[in-house]
Amino acid sequence: MGKCVQCGFCCTRRACCYGEWDAEKKQCAFLTEDMLCAKYGETEIMADTVMPAFGAGCCSALNDWRMKKLQELGEIPADMTYEQYFGYCMIRDIEEQVNDESSTSQ
Ligand code: SF4
Ligand code: SF4
Repeated sequence: MGKCVQCGFCCTRRACCYGEWDAEKKQCAFLTEDMLCAKYGETEIMADTVMPAFGAGCCSALNDWRMKKLQELGEIPADMTYEQYFGYCMIRDIEEQVNDESSTSQ
């Protein structure tokens, strides 16, 4: 699961447990115009979480918003294509899984 960088994708698919679905806008009512969570920091749990959407859409094949956000943040090259980005997501997920397994088996 990737880290949430607040691309807003998840919040236009369904509201998380802190959210409220706006059927007219087809997004969570708390998603701001600049795609941030207006409820962030409101509760103790949310203060520990960048955005409580929990990575649901991070590696969705339909989501190129996160790639654009990572490019804006300078975390991946600006000229990375979506195909390259998707491969990068897969490799990173496998690496994280391997690291998790080796840390729990010690
Ligand atoms: S993270 Fe914030 S904006 Fe997104 S669904 Fe949850 S409450 Fe709504
Ligand atoms: S797709 Fe990932 S980065 Fe974007 S809002 Fe969802 S969890 Fe956050």
